[in-house]
Amino acid sequence: MGVWRGLSGMCICVDCHWVDLCQAYHAVERQHGAPHLSPSPDFAPRHPRIHVEVRDLAGEGVGVEWDVRSCGDFQADPGRWRRLRPGEALPS
Ligand code: SF4
Repeated sequence: MGVWRGLSGMCICVDCHWVDLCQAYHAVERQHGAPHLSPSPDFAPRHPRIHVEVRDLAGEGVGVEWDVRSCGDFQADPGRWRRLRPGEALPS
């Protein structure tokens, strides 16, 4: 299987079947200070590539953005994160 690469610049995990079971996404949630979908996920993905970007926060210093941009275990399940967290804004 090839490594799936996202095109939009967003974290691809929000549309992945494994998002609530995945240890790499759990690490991204931790870096964002976001609530975890699962307290102890047990799925270890192959070759997740995490893109780290330092951003200027308009006069409030800098922030660090963490996103998975490619992954060997991406399994398309469009909207999975939204279905798990109905009514909440997508993490960014
Ligand atoms: S794309 Fe990879 S890192 Fe992201 S949730 Fe899916 S398996 Fe995990």
